[in-house]
Amino acid sequence: MHTLCPTPSNMGAAHLTIDLDAVCSNWRALDALSNHEVETAAVVKADAYGIGAAQAAKALAKAGAKSFFVALVEEGVTIRNVLGNQPDIYVFSGHMDGETDALVSARLIPLLNAPDQMSRHAANAPNLSFGVQLDTGMNRLGFEPSEWNDRKFELLNAGPLLVMSHLACADEPGHPMNVQQLDAFRGMTDGIAPRRSLAATGGILLGSEYHFDLTRPGVGLYGGQPFGEARPAIRLDVPVIQTRTVQPGETVGYGNAWTATAPTKVATISAGYADGLLRAAAPGAVVFAGNTPCPVVGRISMDLITVDVSGLHNVPASLQVIGPDLPVDAFAEAAGTIGYEILTSLGARYERVYLPQ
Ligand SMILES: *Cc1c(COP(=O)(O)O)cnc(C)c1O
Repeated sequence: MHTLCPTPSNMGAAHLTIDLDAVCSNWRALDALSNHEVETAAVVKADAYGIGAAQAAKALAKAGAKSFFVALVEEGVTIRNVLGNQPDIYVFSGHMDGETDALVSARLIPLLNAPDQMSRHAANAPNLSFGVQLDTGMNRLGFEPSEWNDRKFELLNAGPLLVMSHLACADEPGHPMNVQQLDAFRGMTDGIAPRRSLAATGGILLGSEYHFDLTRPGVGLYGGQPFGEARPAIRLDVPVIQTRTVQPGETVGYGNAWTATAPTKVATISAGYADGLLRAAAPGAVVFAGNTPCPVVGRISMDLITVDVSGLHNVPASLQVIGPDLPVDAFAEAAGTIGYEILTSLGARYERVYLPQ
């Protein structure tokens, strides 16, 4: 006979606090940047950039979002189950082979990307609403200008709900690619009847000529750059497991990567690269005890990070790795990456707390 072990209270787990009020306030702030005829949708792909698609979508729908975008059909099904029948849910990957049943039963709107998707949609789900994604130079997804030209009449005749494209360099306002893609999009779509969409977070910030009828912010909702005004949406507090004093000449962590030059108080905290705190962030990353920055020393390991806490009178029970003083992009920069990657790498081991509860 087999007995179940009691579930421990998980004191060692890091706490990931997700502020859904901040997410909604970021959505409202981005919405306020376009005029009121422009609809502001919400991109909740990749589990809402790691923060939890079900919780984020519910909060955003309550705040007023009526259209949602996901990358994959499975993500769309999740959102449909959470939000019920009302909202429009668009799928960036379009209509792939084998997905018709799921698209139809969850009433998802595939953004058709290519002639083969168009034929598949017409053959398998002629009554299901769809949108069209155009390639305006990013060369990732969407009908090429010549493909669009040849099929524009047929596609528009079938009444797409939305015609969209995506900007490659919107996080760099002065980049000539922005105007080039805007002109290309205009050239391909001026005068058509369906609603149009070009801007994600970066595009919203480029100004009203990029907004068209609907904007598609993602990262800005979750507190990431390039939306500098964003309220931080997550806080990550990692418990201190142990502290010790390391003497000059002693080393810390794998590969002896850090050597003390003075007596140093080192705290070991209970999260690591398995939790999305990328190994590449050390050396360079800093964590916080209240308002006091404390440098990471030695290598980040799978489950643990070592921190120089010599500057503290009292070592708190946990240190903050991401939070109001330490935006997700600061940790990302130390790792040579972007906030998007840190958010979507947030691990499954965190004890997640959603505010307001
Ligand atoms: C991910 C994505 C978005 C959202 O982009 P952000 O930069 O996170 O605002 C919008 N549109 C498309 C096509 C995307 O792939």
